[in-house]
Amino acid sequence: MPAALITGANKGLGYATAERLHELGHTVYVGARDVERGERAAAALGVRFVQLDVTDDASVSAALATIESAEGQLDILVNNAGVLGLTGVDGPTALRVFDTNVVGIVRVTEAALPLLRKSPNPHVVTVSSSMGSFWAVTNPDRPEFNLSAALYSASKSAATMLTVQYAKSEPGVRFNAVEPGYTATDMMAAIGGGRPPAESAKIIVRLATLGADGPTGTLQDETGVLNW
Ligand code: NAP
Repeated sequence: MPAALITGANKGLGYATAERLHELGHTVYVGARDVERGERAAAALGVRFVQLDVTDDASVSAALATIESAEGQLDILVNNAGVLGLTGVDGPTALRVFDTNVVGIVRVTEAALPLLRKSPNPHVVTVSSSMGSFWAVTNPDRPEFNLSAALYSASKSAATMLTVQYAKSEPGVRFNAVEPGYTATDMMAAIGGGRPPAESAKIIVRLATLGADGPTGTLQDETGVLNW
């Protein structure tokens, strides 16, 4: 059975993605920074748990070492953990948002690559955002045009760029970024609205289960390729 690791999977989109991949028969690892929340989520889903804080190198290394000894390889990595960081536009907030949303992707991807290279059909899906699309935020016809989230947007542009760069440097691994659709999770609770996480998880799972001839280096939403 293919092995999948999802970061920030104790709730929200990550949890829904873990649930769907488990239903499809994958060996799923819920990555969560908090042991209690992660173990609770994994037990509810009937999957495995690894403690994984994307801002902590030691935690990331230990999580991938656990997967290596149990599975020998990794077939799917979903870089999902993220923060919105609307508390202010200042240095400390910027460092926290970029450490989680950007550097976190580098930490986890670098630690996972040796295991991904052992898979016959490896995929990395990064949950980015259309808020990181220069095209969307400068297009008055798009909802992103009127939303203000400077640090989050900039971090998601970087997350998408990492996807493009990794796709070029690792041609044996499919790397794609996804805008999952506006979803009712804790991240969006203050704004309100949004569709159920299970709906949005479908596009994440679709990109995580492409064939070896599938696209790489793209940013997509459920309708297809999204402009940069
Ligand atoms: P959420 O319910 O708030 O989930 C965020 C997850 O990230 C939580 O499990 C959280 O863990 C985890 N996380 C935060 N910092 C972490 C760290 N340092 N290490 C490990 N995990 C960490 O929000 P969500 O909407 O599901 O967000 C998931 C992803 O989707 C994010 O990357 C977000 O930017 C993206 N996204 C969401 C929407 C939307 O409409 N909801 C739209 C576009 C993109 P804790 O429970 O421990 O905090």
